[in-house]
Amino acid sequence: MQYLHSVLGPTVNRVFDEKKYIELDPSKVEIKEVGCSGLHRIQTESEVIQQSTQHLQSYLTELLITIAKSVRTCPATIRATFRQLFKRVEEHFPENKHKNVKFIAVTSFLCLRFFSPAVMSPKLFHLREKHADARTSRTLLLLAKAIQTVGNMDAAASRAKEGWMAPLQPTIQQSISQMKEFIAQLIDIEEKEEVDQPKAQTLVVKEGPLFIHKSKGKGPLLSSSFKKLYFSLTSEALSFAKSPNSKKSSFITLSNIRAAEKVEEKSFGSSHVMQIIYADEAGQLEMAYLQCKCVNELNQWLSALRKVCVNNAEMLGSYHPGVFKGDKWSCCHQKDKTGLGCDKTRHGVTLQEWNDPLDPDLESQLIFRHLFGVRDSMREKYLEMLTEKNENVLLRQSGDPENVDGPTRLFQVLQDLEDAHHTAVFSSGTLADRDRNCLLELQT
Ligand SMILES: [Zn+2]
Repeated sequence: MQYLHSVLGPTVNRVFDEKKYIELDPSKVEIKEVGCSGLHRIQTESEVIQQSTQHLQSYLTELLITIAKSVRTCPATIRATFRQLFKRVEEHFPENKHKNVKFIAVTSFLCLRFFSPAVMSPKLFHLREKHADARTSRTLLLLAKAIQTVGNMDAAASRAKEGWMAPLQPTIQQSISQMKEFIAQLIDIEEKEEVDQPKAQTLVVKEGPLFIHKSKGKGPLLSSSFKKLYFSLTSEALSFAKSPNSKKSSFITLSNIRAAEKVEEKSFGSSHVMQIIYADEAGQLEMAYLQCKCVNELNQWLSALRKVCVNNAEMLGSYHPGVFKGDKWSCCHQKDKTGLGCDKTRHGVTLQEWNDPLDPDLESQLIFRHLFGVRDSMREKYLEMLTEKNENVLLRQSGDPENVDGPTRLFQVLQDLEDAHHTAVFSSGTLADRDRNCLLELQT
């Protein structure tokens, strides 16, 4: 991730800062007025494309220079892996006509799976705080396309597919040779270097400030007795420090954790408090109460803790959502502090990997539209495949639901969705309403 940031960061930031209008596809070019007041003139399509080409060339060149310089900063494990890959492919395809294949093997990972996606969605790779606006994201998309073309090392194929990328060809050609040079250097790593690599650092899963409740002492539990500390959850332990950069002292070893659960709101007057139940050195169960700044933080921490403890033995099946106040639990009034919990633990409840706040409606719409768009060609391929297999198409299609295969079922679902969509559109009343619906759809 650090490597990715050092390579892509500067160029991606430049694209965001410059906010240039860039378009190469003539069918998408929007003619707009440029110039200062009094000097209005209309920019022609070819001017737009010419300028866009220059900007993209500049971004791509800058990026390739940064990539070329990054040999030393690329993690050795990655370099060693690429070396292996490169050598293996080379052994398999020694002929001259396959001379690019070994490079493509590397760029398939490096460009297609690593650089390009990150350029396209910088937020998901923590390159930017926010998603790009429409204009910037179009620029990023075009840049990502260019990187992919470089990665494919086959300028001709891309020209055939999207002719309008042609103005970029010279730069792409040049970038391809730069990329090859870079890969040659990247894989030029001694086997020994690999072995000498220091052990991977413990991975930080989540970090940030939390308010810890000082549970030592017999005083009454007050919300004012929370203290702010900086916590860091790694694959080994939960640690804390007084400031984000000071040395962390280990707090709880992960293997000692028995549960991570919410605390009832009435316990501390806050609904963002979690409790970590863990075993101390003597095997005695202890509780740590940690307050988060909002419910999202709380859920993320709980989720992160539960995930790293997923293989812990002796996780508890129950816990007390309240606190032990005076002589009893506030939740169930049990007098035995070590008594069985009164609520079930929820170890299995975690957040999805995707921590980007996506709009599920929009996402499903996009997936639907994509599937819908490729439905015909999918069906064609499918029928082709069946015929090739010499199977009875009719039998397959009519048969009982038990025997219907995946693709057929997919087509059925798509059809149902389409029907539902039509019904919805037609029942939505007047034409104006319908038009508005279409517009809304276009905006997404
Ligand atoms: Zn209880």
